Amino acid sequence: MNKTINPPQPMPKLKPEERIRCFKEVALGYSEEQAKAEAERCLQCKVPRCVEGCPVNIDIPTFIRFIKEGRYREAIKKIKEKNSLPAICGRVCPQENQCMGRCILGIRNVPVNIGALERFAADWERAEGLTNPEKAPPTGKKVAVVGSGPAGLTAAAELAKLGHEVTIFEALHKPGGVLTYGIPEFRLPKEIVMDEVKYVESLGVKIERNIIIGKTITIKELFNMGFDAVFLGTGAGLPRFLNIPGENLCGIYSANEFLIRVNLMKAYRFPEYDTPIKVGRRVAVIGGGNVAMDAARSALRLGGEVTVIYRRTEKEMPARREEIENAKEEGIRFLFLASPIRFIGDEKGWVKEVECIRMELVEPDETGRRRPKPIENSEFKVAADTVIVAIGQRPNPIAVYNEDIKLSKHGTIIVDPETYETSMKGVFAAGDIVTGNATVISAMGAAKIAARSIHKFLMGEYQQINNSRS
Ligand SMILES: Cc1cc2nc3c(=O)[nH]c(=O)nc-3n(C[C@H](O)[C@H](O)[C@H](O)COP(=O)(O)OP(=O)(O)OC[C@H]3O[C@@H](n4cnc5c(N)ncnc54)[C@H](O)[C@@H]3O)c2cc1C
Ligand code: SF4
Repeated sequence: MNKTINPPQPMPKLKPEERIRCFKEVALGYSEEQAKAEAERCLQCKVPRCVEGCPVNIDIPTFIRFIKEGRYREAIKKIKEKNSLPAICGRVCPQENQCMGRCILGIRNVPVNIGALERFAADWERAEGLTNPEKAPPTGKKVAVVGSGPAGLTAAAELAKLGHEVTIFEALHKPGGVLTYGIPEFRLPKEIVMDEVKYVESLGVKIERNIIIGKTITIKELFNMGFDAVFLGTGAGLPRFLNIPGENLCGIYSANEFLIRVNLMKAYRFPEYDTPIKVGRRVAVIGGGNVAMDAARSALRLGGEVTVIYRRTEKEMPARREEIENAKEEGIRFLFLASPIRFIGDEKGWVKEVECIRMELVEPDETGRRRPKPIENSEFKVAADTVIVAIGQRPNPIAVYNEDIKLSKHGTIIVDPETYETSMKGVFAAGDIVTGNATVISAMGAAKIAARSIHKFLMGEYQQINNSRS
């Protein structure tokens, strides 16, 4: 007998006119009634393809069944068996390319909104109180984790659960990595990030802030201080630039600088915080990823009229679909198939125009996306008094200066693909520092594997890989 499937539950959201001048969270989360109705849509597949699509392999059908039955504590416990940061992942994971992209219901119908259900369970726990995590007895081994982004937090949580003594060293004054300094409040409230950080601390993990590994303390010194292994999760925090004429004009920001000033330094709460940022009337954002969407929507909230300039079409944009839709609803304009070739300034050295060239898409490149090619004599100008360049990030090499750690030509750390061991004994790495900029959940998935290798290394069950690889 065919089961009748409920209609998909829409995510309640703040109305565009309410949200475009404030930094309040846009997506409001399911009510209990909605969560149960959405959970009922799950087919409880015998071979659940959604689990294969999840980089940390959460037992998705089981946690969904618990929600359907109103057993929320069990639902969140099930999720946390595999994911220490569910309130974050429920909000920012690109589920359409992962679990939801594989959902069997999605073949003929709208897939189950797995992310919204994960968020529901995590928010329920935040409201009701944390579940006590289970931990193995102390092993007497000490691990230093460098960086407190999703990779560092995940590795730290996993290792602490296995009974090791873990200290995170973070360069900034606040933990969370991109979750804190990059993704804006209206998409990921910082209170939620701090609650997830507290959960990791509740496992016994210590966090030392304002310490730059490679400068304040070197990796070798960490070993001299008594750490038995080191995990590097230092991310990809260096901005890329276009390297075109005029890029040094006033009013042109890298997305990193712009978002750090807005989020970490709380420019959007000026004058409560005395760290404002100048945003002009006409803002051009260059790029088509999550970073570009976050920069564009932040600039809009700070009073700008925003145009996103992207060299491919909407179909190729790497940003999450939901965020592209949100940006459109909020009135962000998109200029597709266009690429900047120079910035033009006024007599005082401030940017006033972006000169662009039209592009056409030709054969696919190594990423599988069709390659943009400039169309001759198609130059045109876009007026802009603020420009935000959001075309990607590179790894920051400070942590590995003068260390025996092999890097790729892109500056990422080379690791063994199975164990995430670097070329230096006892040092492991995962997340954006290994892959270049990717996603929260891919950083977490890799960090979990690295943590398991570190555990084996500490317990003497591990054979170091031959490091002749290059
Ligand atoms: C604006 C923006 C929006 C994004 N949106 C999404 C999204 O919606 N969904 C998604 O899945 N992904 C998104 N991403 C990508 C995602 O955030 C990253 O892939 C993820 O954060 C990588 O995690 P990580 O732990 O490897 O690095 P990071 O989050 O970069 O954390 C690295 C940490 O290491 C610290 N550090 C660096 N060097 C040192 C050192 N020498 N000593 C001590 N500490 C150091 C840094 O200060 C930082 O706190 C976004 C990225 C950005 C920039
Ligand atoms: S694939 Fe979709 S329908 Fe099947 S168990 Fe997973 S979430 Fe449920």
